[in-house]
Amino acid sequence: MSWASDWDVVIGLEVHVQLATQSKIFSGSPTAFGAEPNTQASLVDLGMPGVLPVLNAEAVKMAVRFGLGIDAEIGRKSVFARKNYFYPDLPKGYQISQYELPIVGKGHVDITLDDGTVKRIGVTRAHLEEDAGKSLHEDFQGMSGIDLNRAGTPLLEIVSEPDMRNAKEAVAYARAIHALIRYLGISDGNMNEGSMRCDCNVSIRPKGTEAFGTRREIKNVNSFRFIEKAINAEVEWQVEQLESGRKIQQATVLYDPATNTTRAMRTKEEANDYRYFPDPDLLPVVVSEAFIEEVLRALPELPEAKRARFISEFGLGDYDAARLVGDKDLAQFFETAVQAAGSANAKLVANWTISELLGRLNADEKEITDSPVAAGQIGGLVARIADGTLSSKLAKTVFDALWNGEGPTADAIIEARGLKQVSDSGAIEAIVDKVLAASAAQVEDYRASDESKRKKKLGFFVGQIMKESQGKANPQQVNEILLRKLGG
Ligand code: ADP
Ligand code: MG
Repeated sequence: MSWASDWDVVIGLEVHVQLATQSKIFSGSPTAFGAEPNTQASLVDLGMPGVLPVLNAEAVKMAVRFGLGIDAEIGRKSVFARKNYFYPDLPKGYQISQYELPIVGKGHVDITLDDGTVKRIGVTRAHLEEDAGKSLHEDFQGMSGIDLNRAGTPLLEIVSEPDMRNAKEAVAYARAIHALIRYLGISDGNMNEGSMRCDCNVSIRPKGTEAFGTRREIKNVNSFRFIEKAINAEVEWQVEQLESGRKIQQATVLYDPATNTTRAMRTKEEANDYRYFPDPDLLPVVVSEAFIEEVLRALPELPEAKRARFISEFGLGDYDAARLVGDKDLAQFFETAVQAAGSANAKLVANWTISELLGRLNADEKEITDSPVAAGQIGGLVARIADGTLSSKLAKTVFDALWNGEGPTADAIIEARGLKQVSDSGAIEAIVDKVLAASAAQVEDYRASDESKRKKKLGFFVGQIMKESQGKANPQQVNEILLRKLGG
């Protein structure tokens, strides 16, 4: 990134979250994903003349929950407005949204950066709206089909301040929103199914200047990986434009993962004039103090609070704590494992959960909720590492066995396979003697070498001894005894 010393990047995100209500926002149709096309659309969703929308109170409550979760001002009176445009997936000819008076006002979300520092990102507003239907282009030769199942499903659009300065921060923010909506239980956040979609607004400005550059908006990015790639591709493009003397035109663009490029859909001149006005079919939404109090009381512990607690209560590092609270099921798994291992071993539990378990789950494309190794089993395993029964090498063997379902607990596997670490110094000494006696030439060579070379040569003996003990000798004791015998 040769341009990085010349340009600053500015990013703001608009995140659309599909709320997990039982029924749609203005009709009683169900909201379950994956039903036969058009079996979940009522007359309201179809935009039939004469039908009237009725607001779903559950969606309002979820929006307020979110607002309180980001410490935002809750709009005591919010108003639904009609956003007018034509598209085949929108039979009414307008989308019901909120415009001037949203239900959630200014708030903030804290993100943890790679170096462990915390940065606060402003949230400008969040408003309720209905989703549109879906055009299906694949299954109809030469024609498109329309599926109105999604029409009228409740969305919360969360608009950030332009506070992010690179793609990694944008991803951290999107992840923080994702974690939050799942903790709050207001959405499954499933990006594959479109439950969370991001529009990324990107601009650049010469380093050291205040004024923002012209932004382009990358529409509907649906994975964290693509958020990062799309923003980086867009920044490269903008830098190239400006450095070759061209101007940036405000535009809406699409990211194409196949070519890793962004391509303009429409420019500002072609943008719709939505002619927003208050929807005469819907009353303003009035939220009482008592209702806000009630929602506030029912809030669970949220990611930021949990992160701070994991650090203070368990002594975890910034990175581990942030990683573990990033998903509510993972945080729950960790705490259950700590209960089984004892809280003094929490750091070891964090290590095993993050590097071993998550590594394995990732490789198999499994979620923590599908983990073949249960939290209690990890806890039991860590307890045996902590009390010296298992070396880390033996622990990996036990972990594999747990993963493959070879036993109900670490203890049962240790017992059945005789995997206890040998910490009897007499027994280890005997093995060391045997190995040294069989390697006279190497011993001589070791003793003749200077300090800097010795360390590497020691590895040979350790390897032989571990092999001789079938991996069971306590590595620390092996080292001590070996060094003593070699006179190092
Ligand atoms: P629109 O309604 O056209 O999408 P908004 O004013 O609501 O416009 O802004 C949308 C998003 O763009 C917000 O997240 C905001 O922070 C971000 N944004 C605004 N100006 C810039 C800019 N110059 N560079 C990057 N992001 C910006
Ligand atoms: Mg926008």
